[in-house]
Amino acid sequence: KNTCVQDYIKQLNPSQREAVVNTEGPVMVIAGAGSGKTRVLTYRIAYLMDEKKVDPFNILSLTFTNKAAKEMKERIGKIVGGNEAKNLWMGTFHSVFAKILRFEADKLGFPSNFTIYDAEDARKVIANVIKEKNLDKEVYKVKSVASRISSFKNALITPKEYLRSPELQENDAAARMPMMGDIYRAYAERCFRSGAMDFDDLLLYTFILLRKFPDVLAKYQDRFRYIMVDEYQDTNHAQYLIVKSLANRYGNICVVGDDAQSIYAFRGANIRNILNYQRDYEDVRVFKLEQNYRSTKTIVGAANSLIKKNKEQLDKNVWTDNSDGEQIVINKTVSDTDEASYVARTIFEKNMQEHIPFSDFAILYRTNAQSRAMEESFRRRNIPYRIYGGLSFYQRKEVKDLLAYVRLTINSNDEEAFRRVINYPKRGIGDTTLEKITVAANANGVSVWEICSNLGYYQSVGLNKPTTVKIQDFVTKIQSFKALAKEAEAFDLATHIAKTSGLLRELSQDKTPEGISRTENIQELLNSVKEFTENQKEIEDGNPSLSGFMEDVALLTDSDNTTDEDNEKVSLMTIHLAKGLEFPIVFIVGMEESLFPSMMAMSSRADLEEERRLFYVALTRAEKEAYLTYAQMRYRWGKLIDCEPSRFLQEIDESFLNINTPDFSPFTGAYGDSDEPSASRRPSPRRAPTSSAPSRSRQPQRTMPQRKNLRKIESSLPSANSDSVADTNPSDINVGDRVKHQRFGHGKIKEMEGAGPNKKAVIQFDNVGEKKLLLKFAKLEKV
Ligand code: ATP
Ligand code: MG
Repeated sequence: KNTCVQDYIKQLNPSQREAVVNTEGPVMVIAGAGSGKTRVLTYRIAYLMDEKKVDPFNILSLTFTNKAAKEMKERIGKIVGGNEAKNLWMGTFHSVFAKILRFEADKLGFPSNFTIYDAEDARKVIANVIKEKNLDKEVYKVKSVASRISSFKNALITPKEYLRSPELQENDAAARMPMMGDIYRAYAERCFRSGAMDFDDLLLYTFILLRKFPDVLAKYQDRFRYIMVDEYQDTNHAQYLIVKSLANRYGNICVVGDDAQSIYAFRGANIRNILNYQRDYEDVRVFKLEQNYRSTKTIVGAANSLIKKNKEQLDKNVWTDNSDGEQIVINKTVSDTDEASYVARTIFEKNMQEHIPFSDFAILYRTNAQSRAMEESFRRRNIPYRIYGGLSFYQRKEVKDLLAYVRLTINSNDEEAFRRVINYPKRGIGDTTLEKITVAANANGVSVWEICSNLGYYQSVGLNKPTTVKIQDFVTKIQSFKALAKEAEAFDLATHIAKTSGLLRELSQDKTPEGISRTENIQELLNSVKEFTENQKEIEDGNPSLSGFMEDVALLTDSDNTTDEDNEKVSLMTIHLAKGLEFPIVFIVGMEESLFPSMMAMSSRADLEEERRLFYVALTRAEKEAYLTYAQMRYRWGKLIDCEPSRFLQEIDESFLNINTPDFSPFTGAYGDSDEPSASRRPSPRRAPTSSAPSRSRQPQRTMPQRKNLRKIESSLPSANSDSVADTNPSDINVGDRVKHQRFGHGKIKEMEGAGPNKKAVIQFDNVGEKKLLLKFAKLEKV
């Protein structure tokens, strides 16, 4: 087993190795994209376990997504063998802290089965508070109040502290929201009474727990003898302080990050954490990794030339031994629809001609809204794709409804769950009743459940007899679920709840396709409960109960949000979600001013630098090829708007670019306008002779059409929506010829069949065996 680890150590370069074997004391790895930071963390954990014989229970590793944690665990498992890796404390900050909070909840006055509110739950509570306080909801917009509260929490400001700070209060008063402190306090009380924490609370309460209870802190300090943090550049103040206090005893903390990839400042991430690290810990050993293993020289060079434009950077010199690779293609299209067609067509052709699997491609965009056009064109060409982020399965209404019953069964004080299902399916319990109950709950400082389950005691609520009976029926039903929960298996319990709550019956009455798919979603949810329990049974300390399942669901991040594991698909996601990932071929779409960089970021240099780092992240996801596309016109906010190419395109050193757009010059920023025929414009000085782009797009672009004619002109463009493919037709190829294929190399034609566009050749390749290829796509060369 040991030799196994040693083997793996050999797969590291000397600086990486140093970062792995220097396990004691504080270590910081500051390194460029694709230089093996995540690999170093993975091997370091394996090394700790196998070489240093550290118990996995004593190792804490914090990752940015649960998926990343899972993959890391699997790798480590393979290196060290056995089941040991399963006992590692590994996950996102939120999931690790939630686990700690469950153990220690009573100290903070929370039940250990506290609910985790998602953003929607939180907004509903806030909306209720605003309504109950009779505040103007045009001034106190739920979304902005929610984001204010979130930023307080991430800065570790409790309601009490807020109300003691004249500065904060003046700030909100100036923004015409003088009641912010009151709302914050009411919101926090509401959540507390419901036995619920929102996402930000998981950090805030962990911080409070460790500060208030020295014995608890000592316990976890002792437990986490080795701490590791990936993507350190994106930790916020709360995360930073918690990690710091946990590491305070042993000081064996290793953080890895890249200041050039800090992209979460808008959510409170603090790039200074990296800079402060050396000040906070004595004798920090800093390792720099500068060799990139992921990308071609072209991509590394282009990314370097771009990020140089940022002033606030640590000095780094990222280089690679990999091949030069293809130039980065810049492509202009008429409209967003055309852009999507171009992307789909290029992928389609590459899949057909070069047999590149769909899973090698990723489409990255700045905003979620851009996925729609892409989806349409993928569907049109039958290209399988998967979208990350967006509305997840667990956020769908019917799924949340069933989960609300489950939540109420686990934690009956959960007010949002209660409100969601008290009258769904309909039980004749109306808004007035609910209001009376809420008033009584607020007056008595208890949960709505407490009122409802003790209506005899809380006579003052003032409900009439029939309503009282209806509420008591509901309470009895939930109590019967609670009783069952003590003995039944998670799956049986969930199924019982789905049936007995009336939810399935309600849904099954809807015979529309949407209704049927809602019922199917409930079925799917039950399946996932089943799957969860089976998986948990294999893990030693796994918790196969329904609450264990709920915990998993509540902590899913956007990038974990995939329901199937089918791998033959193009990936679509926002750049934020692409962090840490890599793909052979990457398309970055919507390279336009006001979109990327985002309009919001154009006024301050700091924001613009963050957008540039975001572009840097996007570009450095690519292993072999990158395509940057922009449209001249795009639908945004329901309007067709003119677009200008992003300034970022002009910031990449031109030698790395292959520009398919004759009227675009990165030197001057000059960009043709519609009233000049394109032929009179300066042709691109550096169109690469060996372009890998489909031949269609190398033809001169049309001039920009007038707005009102756009639809008409688009439909007349042969390329835009048609399924035309490159017409490389090697017509003079015959049986017995030796040929060369871009990807498969040399081979001999064994057979020919079909005619015209359907002509196929069976080729015996020297290295990859026999393949049957459609000649239209195969791009064969006679040799
Ligand atoms: P990012 O900044 O995007 O998070 P990273 O620094 O974490 O990147 P990794 O994802 O760890 O980089 O590594 C990038 C790629 O290079 C991975 O495919 C990894 O397996 C590979 N790699 C890392 N180090 C080596 C090495 N010494 N030899 C060969 N391949 C390596
Ligand atoms: Mg990484």
